Amino acid sequence: MSYEFDTDPEVHDFALQVRKFVESEAIPLENQIDAQAHGIAPELRVQLQKAAKAAGIFAPTAPKEFGGKEFNHAAQAVILEEAGRSLLGPTALNCAAPDEGNILLLNKIATPAQRDKYLAPLSRGEIRSSFSMTEPSPGAGADPNLLSTTAVKTTSGWVINGNKWLITGADGAAFSIVMAKTSGGATMFLVDNENPGMKVVRNLDTLDSAFTGGHGVVDFNECVVSDDAVLGQVDEGFVNAQVRLGPARLTHCMRWLGAARRAHETAVAYAAQRPMFGTELSSLGMAQQMIADNEIDIEASRALIHRAAWKLDQGSPARKETSVAKTFVAEATFRIVDRSMQLCGASGTTGDLPIAQIFRDIRPFRIYDGPSEVHRWSISRRAVRQSQGGKLPGDWA
Ligand SMILES: Cc1cc2nc3c(=O)[nH]c(=O)nc-3n(C[C@H](O)[C@H](O)[C@H](O)COP(=O)(O)OP(=O)(O)OC[C@H]3O[C@@H](n4cnc5c(N)ncnc54)[C@H](O)[C@@H]3O)c2cc1C
Repeated sequence: MSYEFDTDPEVHDFALQVRKFVESEAIPLENQIDAQAHGIAPELRVQLQKAAKAAGIFAPTAPKEFGGKEFNHAAQAVILEEAGRSLLGPTALNCAAPDEGNILLLNKIATPAQRDKYLAPLSRGEIRSSFSMTEPSPGAGADPNLLSTTAVKTTSGWVINGNKWLITGADGAAFSIVMAKTSGGATMFLVDNENPGMKVVRNLDTLDSAFTGGHGVVDFNECVVSDDAVLGQVDEGFVNAQVRLGPARLTHCMRWLGAARRAHETAVAYAAQRPMFGTELSSLGMAQQMIADNEIDIEASRALIHRAAWKLDQGSPARKETSVAKTFVAEATFRIVDRSMQLCGASGTTGDLPIAQIFRDIRPFRIYDGPSEVHRWSISRRAVRQSQGGKLPGDWA
């Protein structure tokens, strides 16, 4: 447990309950994750969420107004790490991506009518959502300025045209937050999945398999929405995206740190009992180095997460801190899981241990929410500008 960072007994108790829930309710169901289906099945999601509600640990990040616990970022760091120990944990607690980030964004910028229609049922787990930004090349990816999906104003609303892909959870979601180019910048729109102009064309065959709905290709063809569908202000899409980006990349770090820790715990238990060359694996120097390096990566990741969470709780956008944490944690957690697999030998590559599944699911984290290279580019530019006394830009990463 990482609760020593938070002295609040409520957070401590909540995190302990999450830990118990993950052990007793989530981990036993992990064999139901179907790697071929690329997503936690909708029925399994419902079952897990029912159990989490019964355990009193549902929706730790959602607004209290809609039944959530609305813990601050520092508390979330403790709780989401525990939830992340199972790939099913965040979905069970309704704090998985993309819903968790969308809840945060809607809570900050949605109108009262949008809160009732989208935020309330999303917080309660009654519906799912997606966030549609990325487009196939030559459209928006690491560089958001390549955004090519357009929204054109009409007398009664807007018409959206374009293609998105890699949209997590699009298949089966009730709505998507869609980023489109408008005459003076970019704008976010709330588009209902039943809108005939928005179609989930197919689900991609991806490495990971623990996001309900998988990752979809979504087409917008003369997609008509009303003025009420604008989320935030017209032409302020990139500014509003920043509201979601920093905290959402940090919650990813929290969850993946939990998963990496689970892989490490599994490897340490294996090494401690595995007879080898007249001793145990855990007593051999090169194995000790891997175990120690994992411990170092876990501690360093946690420290960066908690520092960034603290900054967010002070009201700072914490752009640098979340960017540094995202880059380090995405790479460190992959190293941890990779070493854990190595320590366990062949069993680490099989479904008998949880490591192989975590390995597959954690790898893409170095690409989404900003590839490491974009973050390094941004961190470096920021450092240089600061040294020159320049004004800090509103970087994407
Ligand atoms: C599992 C998963 C889930 C996702 N979910 C969503 C979602 O729900 N919604 C959504 O909109 N998108 C989603 N994405 C897409 C994700 O945000 C993009 O993949 C990411 O922004 C990178 O864009 P791209 O894949 O087009 O890569 P590209 O833009 O083509 O970049 C390719 C590579 O270029 C390199 N690069 C980038 N910038 C630099 C630089 N400055 N210097 C040097 N090298 C650089 C990086 O190595 C990068 O990986 C998801 C992706 C994955 C893998």
